[in-house]
Amino acid sequence: MLLVCSRRCGGKLFRALFAEVELDAAGAYQDHRIAQPGYVCLNCGSPAFDLAEVPAELEAEARADEPRPVAADILCPVCETLVQVDAGMECPNCGAPLEVG
Ligand SMILES: [Zn+2]
Ligand SMILES: [Zn+2]
Repeated sequence: MLLVCSRRCGGKLFRALFAEVELDAAGAYQDHRIAQPGYVCLNCGSPAFDLAEVPAELEAEARADEPRPVAADILCPVCETLVQVDAGMECPNCGAPLEVG
């Protein structure tokens, strides 16, 4: 579980809205379980959410940040200069058109 305040106020304490607390005969806290998700930030009172419950969303964001394939290194067929090009460029040395791939 990784709770964060929805307002990112920096609060570190949260309250579970739907938790069941187990007590011993003297009423001392023994354990708890979260009956259903629902949390508030104790610092500012805003709703908080569990980052651990949205891994799919974060994964999709991470995938969108992946770099595109880098340009290919190819040899100019005319002067044999090794040039890094995107499609449709000319050789910077002799001006011959280059084809990638
Ligand atoms: Zn807060
Ligand atoms: Zn060339």
